[in-house]
Amino acid sequence: MRFGIVTLFPEMFGLVSKFGVVGRACDRGLLRLHLSNPRDFARDRHRTVDDRSYGGGPGMVMKPGPVVSALDALRQDLPGAQVIYLSPQGRKLDQEVVAGFAGQGELILLAGRYEGVDQRVLDHYVDQELSIGDFVLSGGELAAMVVVDAVARLIPGVLGDEQSARADSFSESLLDYPHFTRPAEFQGALVPQVLLDGDHAAVARWRRKQSLGRTELRRPDLLARCSLTETDRQLLAEYRREREAGRQE
Ligand code: SAM
Repeated sequence: MRFGIVTLFPEMFGLVSKFGVVGRACDRGLLRLHLSNPRDFARDRHRTVDDRSYGGGPGMVMKPGPVVSALDALRQDLPGAQVIYLSPQGRKLDQEVVAGFAGQGELILLAGRYEGVDQRVLDHYVDQELSIGDFVLSGGELAAMVVVDAVARLIPGVLGDEQSARADSFSESLLDYPHFTRPAEFQGALVPQVLLDGDHAAVARWRRKQSLGRTELRRPDLLARCSLTETDRQLLAEYRREREAGRQE
């Protein structure tokens, strides 16, 4: 998977390309980041990339010329890539969007700064605007890193154990089940016995029940979108009974 990223702060992307799972994916050539800085394409002595907003008001706007040149430079390496502008005004990022991107092979992410990018660039060069939530960041870089990280997890070979992406929250419109590791007792709190008994079918059943129950408790909107089997309904009923009896969360 190859990402082109238009950013005034390319150094920030060391945070994803040098650490953890995504860092290893970059080292192994499974993931490649192509960075393009509009400032490198600014024509004037001061390498200006922003200017005042027509019509007045506070805040600066990213000039169209340098941004388009930075995009064009990326296009040479990524000719078929969709261009995504990270923006609080875009469609909200979710696992479905992430999975769609992972299937595309290449993508260009445009990170804004200041009050954003000149509207004409968005109208003529951007395929989709994407938000990471209903809040305003000071730049699109962190949002772009969120996209890179989430997409990278779905690229075959990036995660050591393919199962772990499949079991993650949202992979099936359900939240993940709780995880425990050693020691079996920590500050008096015990790991559920079923996880220690070595009965794989019982573990799978328990995990499914937890996923269903947690999703109902925390994200009923997600559960409403799931098609549940008869067994799922029984597990959910069991979860509710156990919770009422004080044996769950
Ligand atoms: N004036 C803009 C608005 O209200 O829509 C916000 C500009 S914001 C200060 C600067 C940049 O941060 C944006 O151009 C965008 O790239 C990025 N950004 C801010 N919030 C974001 C969010 N929730 N999701 C994705 N990108 C965001």
